[in-house]
Amino acid sequence: MRITSRRILAIALGGLLLVLAVGHAERQARASYLAKAKARTETALGLTTNALAAYLARYEVTPQLLADFEAVRLLVTFPADPVRRAAINRLLEDRNSVIGSSDIYIMQMNGETIAASNHARPDSFIGQTFSYRPYFFDAAAGKAARFYALGTTSGVRGYYFSAPVRDLAGRIAGVIAVKVGVDAPEAAWRGSEFRIFVTDPEGIVFLSSEPEWLYGSIQPLTTERLARTAASRRYSDAALRELSVSTSTSAGVPLMRMIANGAAHDHVATAQVMPSAGWTVHVLLDSAGALTEARIATAGVALALCLIGAAGLVVVQRRARVAERLAFAAQAKADLERRVAERTADLARVNAHLEQEVAERKATEAELRAAQANLVRVGKLAALGQMSAALSHEINQPLAAARNYADSAAILLDRGDLARARENIGLILSLIDRIGAIGRHLRNAARKPNQRLSPIALPALLEETQVIVAGRLAAADAVLELDLPPDLPPVMAGATRLQQVLVNLVTNAADAIEGLTDRRITLSARASGDRVTIRVRDRGPGVAPAIAERIFDPFFTTKGVGLGLGLSISYNIVKDFGGEITLRAADPGAEFTVTLPAALPAEAAA
Ligand code: ADP
Repeated sequence: MRITSRRILAIALGGLLLVLAVGHAERQARASYLAKAKARTETALGLTTNALAAYLARYEVTPQLLADFEAVRLLVTFPADPVRRAAINRLLEDRNSVIGSSDIYIMQMNGETIAASNHARPDSFIGQTFSYRPYFFDAAAGKAARFYALGTTSGVRGYYFSAPVRDLAGRIAGVIAVKVGVDAPEAAWRGSEFRIFVTDPEGIVFLSSEPEWLYGSIQPLTTERLARTAASRRYSDAALRELSVSTSTSAGVPLMRMIANGAAHDHVATAQVMPSAGWTVHVLLDSAGALTEARIATAGVALALCLIGAAGLVVVQRRARVAERLAFAAQAKADLERRVAERTADLARVNAHLEQEVAERKATEAELRAAQANLVRVGKLAALGQMSAALSHEINQPLAAARNYADSAAILLDRGDLARARENIGLILSLIDRIGAIGRHLRNAARKPNQRLSPIALPALLEETQVIVAGRLAAADAVLELDLPPDLPPVMAGATRLQQVLVNLVTNAADAIEGLTDRRITLSARASGDRVTIRVRDRGPGVAPAIAERIFDPFFTTKGVGLGLGLSISYNIVKDFGGEITLRAADPGAEFTVTLPAALPAEAAA
């Protein structure tokens, strides 16, 4: 695939869009998950505040109830009475255990404790002075008061409720205080996913789910703050310090960074002032969870976008590939068309060439035909010449001999030797016979080939033939065996010419076996389909392969006295009949086969 600048631009744009979209999704996810975390934190804050308020409310009225006790009022009226003190000590001890508070104690107007629920303990409050505590001087001034602080004697944090105690005359003569432990609500906070703490108005942590934050300040510890805290001795001797706190906002949600378990954590921070208690409740939730969820959601969005992008890419690529393939196909089609056009032009050229060649061939053929006709003519002339030469030889020889015999006969007649003259005349006659025989042969050969053929019954024909060859057979002392089936169909031939063929074959066979031991000649005939095959077989020396091809040629002979015309004439006769003549080596001997068409029944009847 070619990388074009357009494609690079598209990919860059797609990447940019992806980054922007993922960035947007990340902000949305962060805002959403932080808002959810904030909502949860606010719910937790409400619950925590309510629980704390409910916890403190249980003790709020206790000092006033006890202050109204007759015995308590009598004690502040007669503070030095040891009997009353002992009685009130027991009363306070008893009430303290019943209501589950930390301590209950009564002070006279100088702040000295004259009765306490913990009177029996070594660190008892009896004799201690708490005039510096706001809850003392507020109550001494006639108001029900409350205060939370670290106990100066016990070192235990508590929430103090106080009320003035009036003597029998109705004057404020003492203060009664109930100290409530704060460990229980604080312990309930631990182990939850929220980090909870309570600060005083100066920002110092008084209660905390994280012990390390206790007595730390989330605001700068200014001298005024320190002075105010020192006056009330709220934290007794505890060392105060500033906590490392920084605030920020993320997606509109306020975050507070604080160090917990040795590491800085960003928290979704909520706070609520509890005016009745005089403190502020803070509930924090580590933002890491929300941010992790936001990151997972963002990753999901990014993944989905990547998948969509990848799918888009695949679609685009596939379309590009299809377009490429179409273009390729169009190109291939154009190529093909061009090649077809080229081939067509080539073919047209070849065709024109061929036509020209055909015309040339035709001309050549015509020439050849003319040449062939010429050759045939020449051949015929040659054959004629050959034949003439052979003929003149064949005839001149006996003629010359006859002339010699005639000359001798004349001389013998002159001498009166009649017997020898007659003998010579006999020789002359035999020579004339020979010349006559050549003439007959040639006459037969020259007979018109296309004579009408007729059905010939072989047995009858053979009877005549046997008579003709009887003399030659007797001379050779040969036996002619006939082997003809009785139902042999007639053959289509000319009777005289077929006889000439058979005479030729039998005579040649007789020539071949002359002087040999096996002098049988077999003439058999068989019908097969629409053909009849006649075989003439001898047991002579056979025909040497070297001359087998030539024996059907005119004037070919191996015999001193032969004309060499017999087989040549026979060959032409059989050809005229529509048959054929062939030679086969019979071992021993030769076998000539003449195949002729059988006469059809209709023809045979005619
Ligand atoms: P001619 O008999 O006058 O020689 P043919 O044409 O009849 O002429 O025969 C040609 C030659 O074929 C013969 O000279 C002979 O050599 C050969 N031939 C023909 N018949 C036979 C046969 N039955 N056995 C051996 N040779 C044969």
